[in-house]
Amino acid sequence: MTDSTPVRTTTPRQVRPATEGWSQQKDATGRPLLQFASPKRGKPPVHLADLTAEQRAEKLFELGFPKFRAAQLEKHYFTHYTSDPELMTDLPAAGREELVAGMLPTLLTEVRRLQTDRGDTVKFLWKLHDGALVESVLMRYPGRITLCVSSQAGCGMNCPFCATGQAGLTRNMSAAEIIEQVVRANRLIREGGLGPAEHADERVTNIVFMGMGEPLANYARVMHAVRVMVDKKHGLGMSARGITVSTVGLVPAIRKLSNEEIPVTFALSLHAPDDLLRDELIPVNSKWKVDEALDAAREYFEKTGRRVSIEYALIKDMNDHAWRADLLAEKLNSRGRGWVHVNPIPLNPTPGSIWTSSEKSVQNEFVRRLNDAGIPTTLRDTRGKEIDGACGQLVASTEDEAAAAATPV
Ligand code: SAH
Repeated sequence: MTDSTPVRTTTPRQVRPATEGWSQQKDATGRPLLQFASPKRGKPPVHLADLTAEQRAEKLFELGFPKFRAAQLEKHYFTHYTSDPELMTDLPAAGREELVAGMLPTLLTEVRRLQTDRGDTVKFLWKLHDGALVESVLMRYPGRITLCVSSQAGCGMNCPFCATGQAGLTRNMSAAEIIEQVVRANRLIREGGLGPAEHADERVTNIVFMGMGEPLANYARVMHAVRVMVDKKHGLGMSARGITVSTVGLVPAIRKLSNEEIPVTFALSLHAPDDLLRDELIPVNSKWKVDEALDAAREYFEKTGRRVSIEYALIKDMNDHAWRADLLAEKLNSRGRGWVHVNPIPLNPTPGSIWTSSEKSVQNEFVRRLNDAGIPTTLRDTRGKEIDGACGQLVASTEDEAAAAATPV
């Protein structure tokens, strides 16, 4: 190296790691396949949590039950976290089974549950009625309990570093399938399954839509689920601020979300500040570019007053260059101050990938540069690595095992 080595090169060294044993699905034109429409499959049974308060009353009437049973069922489901008719002794024994089967049908069957040694992180693997698999991850932190929920079985966004993205889209989840993940987590907490309680009546306080799926590609069902989460009278009564909706950057849907008047936290999975690299890491960047996604994020802040999060998985020699930190800071600052913070997270490598997370010193430098430029930036930890914590990895390993079991040796 000589003294004349430029600090910031215009044509930076670009290493493009390749994944082994996997090739990205392509469309007819050779571009990475994007799936927006949910493939047609048998619909999950309609559940109380799919319906508005009026629709619940109507459904009860159709089933031949008095409308006021809705309030009792809501209490059992959203407050006691139960769908078990045996426990609902305030309901007349005659017809109780039928009533519960009609209003609170089983949506999720637990296939596996993994827990970290410390017991503060639990990963659930659920089977849906049609056999599709989804995951949720429950994490205890001091003063809060966060659940990472899935919004789709699989995902159509095809991001090459994400285990779910590599699997393609199986189908959209229903609103009640999304809510049921929260209810089941609350049930586990109440039973003491997430370690000793900090206080009585503990439950999930924060939701992040960072499990499987692209929430804004399943917009109506995700929004219905969010409404049920925040509904104090007919739902879970959670705080909207504790709910984070994370997206690859579906710009028209971000605009729609800005106008919902539900102040959820909004997170944009950016992962690169330049289109050249983002086209590769986030295939939907072919439709909505970095600047468009950032403009939509800024508009979200203006409409809601809620500070936006930028997600950035640090991938070694891929997107972790100092100049990219500077470019990101520049792009964020050019849209104003105090509206955004950045959450870099070391990549959690998917099995079979030679992409790996950035060196610790590189991570620190990336964070330092953003903070020095006035952008609040905090490195996130990767919780639950030993239990396949990264998005979609548990489903992938379970499907591999099932395939191996079905393959004669
Ligand atoms: N589809 C949505 C939400 C699901 S993924 C979205 O993309 O935002 C939640 C977050 O995990 C996203 O920021 C995603 O880019 C990130 N992620 C996916 N795979 C990862 C991996 N292997 N390591 C680190 N972060 C990952």
